[in-house]
Amino acid sequence: MKINIMTLFPEMCEAVLSESIIGRARANGFIEIRCVNIRDYTADKHNRVDDAPYGGGMGMLMQTQPIYDCYKAICEKSGKKSRLIYMSPCGQVLTQEKVKELASLDEITVLCGHYEGVDQRIIDSIVDEQISVGDYVLTGGELPALVLTDAVARMLPGVLPNDEAKELESHYSGLLEYPQYTRPYEWNGEKVPDVLISGHHENIERWRHEQSLLMTAKHRPDMLKKAQLSEKDIEFLKNENITNV
Ligand code: SAM
Repeated sequence: MKINIMTLFPEMCEAVLSESIIGRARANGFIEIRCVNIRDYTADKHNRVDDAPYGGGMGMLMQTQPIYDCYKAICEKSGKKSRLIYMSPCGQVLTQEKVKELASLDEITVLCGHYEGVDQRIIDSIVDEQISVGDYVLTGGELPALVLTDAVARMLPGVLPNDEAKELESHYSGLLEYPQYTRPYEWNGEKVPDVLISGHHENIERWRHEQSLLMTAKHRPDMLKKAQLSEKDIEFLKNENITNV
C-alpha cells in the first residue's frame, strides 16, 4: 500500500515515520509512504501558501492553488485519482473499522491543514472524505495524519512482527484488550493472576476473554452494547452483575 501525506511540514512527518515499526516496514518494502511538501507547488513568487479569509476574521487559510497542484502531481505520478482524505475536526471521528477499510485500499492521500484550515473549494472539489482524530482542535493536520498512517500501516501484512497480534488488541473485535503482565511475578506485593502461570492454555484463553468483557464493561460500556456477544458472554456478565448489554 502507498500513503501520500500532503503537508507544509514534511520533516515533522518523516521524523516520526522513519522510526521504530513503521520505519522498518518502510525500509523492508511493506508500505510506501511519501511526505510531499505542498509549498513546493506554490506558484507565488514569495512561496506563500496562505492568505487572509474573505469576510475578515482571525488567522490565515491555506490557498487552493498549491494544494490542488500538489494533489494533481501525486495523481499523475500514481496514474489515477488517489483517494483524498482531509484531516479535519469537522470529519467523522476515526475508528478501527475505518482504519480497516482504508488499509484495504492500494493507495490513499492524506491532506494536512494548517492555520485556520483550507479554502472550502478544495474540500468541495477534490476531497473524498474528512476524518477527525477526536472532538478537539490541534494546530495542524500532521499529528492526525501520523495517527491515521500509523493505524493503517499496522493493519498491513508484514508490518507488525506478529501479524495475528493486531486481532487480539483493543477495538479489533469490538472489545478492549484484557490486562497483561510481565516479570517480575511479584511487584510491590502484587502477584500476577495464577491462571497466567498455570500453563493451561484453554483456561488462559477463557480468562482473557472474560477480562476483555469486564474491561469493556468498566471503561467503555458503549462498546459493549454494540459488541457481538455469545450466550455464554451474556451469562458471564450477568453473574458479574452487568446487565446493561
Ligand atoms: N478552523 C478549523 C475549525 O475550526 O474547524 C480548525 C483548523 S486547525 C487549527 C488547523 C488544521 O489542523 C486543520 O485544518 C486540520 O487539518 C488539523 N486538525 C485540527 N484538529 C484536528 C482534529 N481533531 N482532527 C483532524 N485534524 C485536525
